[in-house]
Amino acid sequence: MENTDTIAALATPSGESAIALIRVTGALCEKIAMEAFTLAKSPAPRHASYGSYRDLSGEILDDVVYILFRGPKSYTGEDVLEVSCHGNPLIATRLLEDLLARGCRQSDPGEFTRRAFLNGRMDLTQAEAVMELIQARSDRAIRVANKQLRGNFGRQLDELKMRLLATVATIEAYIDFPDEDLPPEQKKAEIEAIRSVLAFCGRIIDSGKYAAFLRDGVKTLILGEPNAGKSSLLNCLLGFERAIVSDEPGTTRDFIRERIMLDGYCIQVMDTAGLREAANGIEQQGIRKTVELTEEADLFLLVIDGTLPAPTLPEEVSRQITADNCILVQNKADLGALQPLPSPLDGLRRVTMSALSGTGLESLKSAAVEMIDAHLAQDQDDLILVNARHSAALKELSECLESAIRNFEAGEPAEFVASELRGAVEAIGRVLGRIDNEDMLDVLFSSFCIGK
Ligand code: GDP
Repeated sequence: MENTDTIAALATPSGESAIALIRVTGALCEKIAMEAFTLAKSPAPRHASYGSYRDLSGEILDDVVYILFRGPKSYTGEDVLEVSCHGNPLIATRLLEDLLARGCRQSDPGEFTRRAFLNGRMDLTQAEAVMELIQARSDRAIRVANKQLRGNFGRQLDELKMRLLATVATIEAYIDFPDEDLPPEQKKAEIEAIRSVLAFCGRIIDSGKYAAFLRDGVKTLILGEPNAGKSSLLNCLLGFERAIVSDEPGTTRDFIRERIMLDGYCIQVMDTAGLREAANGIEQQGIRKTVELTEEADLFLLVIDGTLPAPTLPEEVSRQITADNCILVQNKADLGALQPLPSPLDGLRRVTMSALSGTGLESLKSAAVEMIDAHLAQDQDDLILVNARHSAALKELSECLESAIRNFEAGEPAEFVASELRGAVEAIGRVLGRIDNEDMLDVLFSSFCIGK
C-alpha cells in the first residue's frame, strides 16, 4: 500500500439530514475505533455496531453506528471506518475535528477512490465510473455506469490486449528466423485479428455520442412560429406551467431549458423564440439565438399550428432538419380540420396533438424515444461512458493499429509491426491506468467530491 496517512471526510452532503456519514481510511482506523468507542478489543470487521463516540477529552459527541472494514477487503483497500451520526452539521463537524485531532488528515476530493485505484481495488475506468454513477442524470446513465463500475470496459480492454499480445508473440517468433516468413494464411489471420481490435476501438469512439446523450441529456429544440404552441408543448411535456403561454406572438424571446425523463433518457428540452420574418429588434436576437441552438441540437420538435397553412422555415434552420432528427408536431388538433402539409414537411415523422389538452402527447413521447434509439444505432449493451481521456487513448491506439496493418501488409520487417503493436498495448494500459502518470491522476480525481 502506498499511502500511510489516515484521511477523513464527511461523505454525505453538508446540511441537516437524518444521518451524516463520516468516512475514514488508513492505518489509524482500528485505533481510533477502539479509543473513541472505548473498546477492549478491535471491533468485528464489517459488523454494524451501536456506540457512543467520545472525543479526545472523553466527552460523548453522539450515539452512532459504526463499521470497520479491514483492508484489503474494503473500498480503498486499506482499513476503512464508517461512522453514521445524527445529521446535524455541528455534530458532523465536531466528529470530523476530533478525527483530525486524533491524527487524521482532511481528505482531498476523490482521495478515497484514488486510494482504491492505487491499491488495485479498481482500474481507472472503474474509478471514472464511480464519478459517472454519482453524477448520472438518467436511468440509462446509471445502468451503463454500473456496468462500467463492475469492470466490463476494463475486461473488454484486457481481452483486446491479450489478442494483440498473442499476435505480437506470433510475429516475434519469426523474428528469430530471418529466413522464414510467416505463412500467408497465418499472416492473413493475424491481420484480421488486428482489424477486429481496430473495429472495436472505432465502435467505442463512435459511442461518444451516446455517452454525451447520457451525461448531458438529449438536446431537444422546440421550434416553430410564434403562437404555434411551443410553450404549451413544453409545459405539456413537463407536466406543469413553466414557460409563459400567451396569445401575443413572440413571448419566449430568450430560450427556456428544462430536463425531463423519457423511457430512461434524460431529455434537455429547450423552448425557443418563435421563428418569423417580421420581428422587432429584441425578437430578432431571440431568433438568432434559436438559429445558433439548432447547430448543437440532437433532436427537433417542429411545432406548427395545424389549422393554419404550414410556415416556411428560415434556410439556416431548415438545412439542420432531417427525417432522422425532427418530429413535426401538428398542434391545435382540437380546433378542427388540419391543413395539408407541403413538401418537404410532409416527409417528416408527424404527430398530431393538442398541447392544450395533452391529446397525442404519448405518441409524441414514443416517437421521440424511437428516434433517439434509432439515432444511436448501436448495440447499447456494448456501450460505455466514453470520456475525453478514453477517446484520446483509443484514437492513439487506432493509429498504432492502422499503421501496424499497413506495414504488415506491405511486408515491412516484423520488428516494426511488433513494435507498433506494443505501442497499441501501451495505449490500452493507459486507458486502464496501468501506466504511471501522477499529473493525469491529479486531474482525474480532483473532479470528484470530497469523501468519495
Ligand atoms: P408559442 O408562442 O409557440 O410558445 O405558443 P403558446 O404556447 O404561447 O400558445 C399560443 C396560444 O395558442 C395560447 O393562447 C395557447 O393557449 C394556444 N394553444 C397552444 N396549444 C394549443 C392547442 O393545442 N389547442 C388550442 N386550441 N390552443 C392552443
